[in-house]
Amino acid sequence: ENFPGFPNGVQGPELVQLARKQAERFGARFLTDIATAFRQLPHGFEISFSSSKKLQTKALIIATGASARWLGVPGEEQYKGRGVTTCATCDGFFFRGKEVIVIGGGDSAMEEATFLTKFATKVTVIHRKSDLRASKIMQERAKQNPKIHLLFDAVVAEILGDGKKVTGVQLKNLKTGQAQEFRCDGVFLAIGHVPNTATFVGKINRDELGYIIADKWMHTNMPGVFAAGDVADKRFRQAITAAGMGCMAAMEAEKWLVDQGD
Ligand code: NDP
Repeated sequence: ENFPGFPNGVQGPELVQLARKQAERFGARFLTDIATAFRQLPHGFEISFSSSKKLQTKALIIATGASARWLGVPGEEQYKGRGVTTCATCDGFFFRGKEVIVIGGGDSAMEEATFLTKFATKVTVIHRKSDLRASKIMQERAKQNPKIHLLFDAVVAEILGDGKKVTGVQLKNLKTGQAQEFRCDGVFLAIGHVPNTATFVGKINRDELGYIIADKWMHTNMPGVFAAGDVADKRFRQAITAAGMGCMAAMEAEKWLVDQGD
């Protein structure tokens, strides 16, 4: 909804397709594979892929993003895509007229909860602390919404279902230790993200949360390696900020290649 240039909004996959076509028009080539290893060569870098393909390059931009964090409780795996999800924008529509819970106390949780009230009849935000981490404005918006209810000091210990779909969760109150069954049709996780950096561990510097450390020009600690988007950004996480970082990284990579005499 907030990517500039699309007054009626645009879905993520469509935006990606458009960007891809545009890049291809300028000669970009695409290889779909999973990067499994990275090493520095005397004059560049080598990336190995799960298909056992290897690619050598003189400059590299890491834009591997971040993956949604999961709870790791019983029932979660079984009901993934059958009531348990990490994306309200993608799946909210399927919960029209239903009751859902959102887990988390940050801006994402507030945003997801507010968005879900378009479809669900009742949205309960379940947070493990007594106060929310979300910004004041996002909190206020959620609190003023009559469809949103807040439940504090509680964690989901198990996701319950009838074998086909979610029917509720088992809650544990962290203050009293009491367990309680809570009926709901959908479980939306908004408990943060984990940056996808496994391929670069020990070679490219990361912060205490695992995000790649890039300077304001998108350079990492290794000359010739740049980083852009959510893999290097735990603060904004927006498509437009990621695109801006990508542009900066590309311009810096190009400049770096010219400086190397390429
Ligand atoms: P955050 O890390 O800010 O919040 C994650 C929340 O999940 C916290 O409340 C945390 O609890 C809780 N949590 C984490 N792990 C667990 C767990 N295992 N069980 C239960 N609860 C858990 O992530 P967000 O995705 O909300 O936000 C990330 C960044 O993106 C922030 O900087 C945010 O401001 C930004 N953002 C901005 C938006 C906007 O302005 N439009 C929208 C969305 C995000 P605790 O508080 O106890 O640590």
